Amino acid sequence: MGEARLIEYENLNRLNEPFREAYEQAFARVADSGWFILGQQVERFEKAFATYCGARHCVGVASGLDALIIGLQAFNFPSGKEVLVASNAYYACILAIIRAGLKPVLVEPDAKTYNIDPHLIESKITPNTVAIMAVHLYGKCCDMQPINHIARQHGLKVIEDCAQAHGASINGRKAGTFGDIAGFSFYPTKNLGALGDGGAVVTDDPVLANRVWQLRNYGSSAKNVFDLLGHNSRLDELQAAFLSQKLAYLDAINAHKRMLADVYFKHLKDQVIKPLHQPGFHDVFHVFAIRHKRRDDLREYLLQHQIKTEIHYPLPPHRQNALKGVFPGTYPISDELHNTVLSLPISTIHTEQDAIEVANHVNEFSAP
Ligand SMILES: *Cc1c(COP(=O)(O)O)cnc(C)c1O
Repeated sequence: MGEARLIEYENLNRLNEPFREAYEQAFARVADSGWFILGQQVERFEKAFATYCGARHCVGVASGLDALIIGLQAFNFPSGKEVLVASNAYYACILAIIRAGLKPVLVEPDAKTYNIDPHLIESKITPNTVAIMAVHLYGKCCDMQPINHIARQHGLKVIEDCAQAHGASINGRKAGTFGDIAGFSFYPTKNLGALGDGGAVVTDDPVLANRVWQLRNYGSSAKNVFDLLGHNSRLDELQAAFLSQKLAYLDAINAHKRMLADVYFKHLKDQVIKPLHQPGFHDVFHVFAIRHKRRDDLREYLLQHQIKTEIHYPLPPHRQNALKGVFPGTYPISDELHNTVLSLPISTIHTEQDAIEVANHVNEFSAP
């Protein structure tokens, strides 16, 4: 046996290499234009991304966190109202709800889908509940039909967190078009990643879109006219220009990740718990999370075989220092997921052979 080669979890240099020339041309266009904030590049990307999602409006903002904060603020909920969110969601989801002046209420996930369990939502609804945040974790859409049904019955709004789900869909309908409003992140490692921070809010509602449009720029409705208490949260021209270049390849990026996922589905033995395949769901595998009861040992074993993995995420929100005392009760499903999930390499830098190699080593470790 020859010396094993390193299989990285991610490598942003290699990931961006195919776009290098397009990025350099985009940089030159922006530099030559002399216009760096809220100009043609942002408008062009917003139009293209709205079209890609199948939504009427897209407003670029500075990050995924801001997209969620501003998206929530656009509803103008009275402060202190409650927003339901999965207990295994990313920390930023909870932070966004708090930063928007609202109260996060945790709902346990379905251990198979890793997403909010629709069956558990209604028991958490109180007279103060105003919205459900549907976080499409790992690139798989939440089960939106029952979620929207419950929301309609109880008069709740739905905000989607699509930071890991650019291009994911259910029966051809894309993430970002199921709820009232949606937030996206273009953090460099996301399926559609910039060369810095970026985000977007997507909605069909012109009133919400207009509020987001004002809120991202101090709350300004026209030059030097301020109607709302807003933010400085603008997607800049340079990142928008880069994103327009990469957007043309988003479907190819997602297809590559799905190809690698198919290799994992085919080669991984049943001793490991694989992500759930649901008919009609087109998942884009921002993360390929398996579960294993000896997760930490498996991770160490893979590392010894030159295979790097990640954990999304090691600690649930209710156990984070900043949120001590915020959530009463226990969240055993979330705890169990955080103790057992392991993210296998699934990037455009990886080949089919890489995935087969990873699967073989996982199987070796798991052999009874
Ligand atoms: C990345 C991410 C965010 C935050 O996006 P940033 O651009 O890093 O602020 C929010 N929610 C989820 C699910 C994410 O993965």
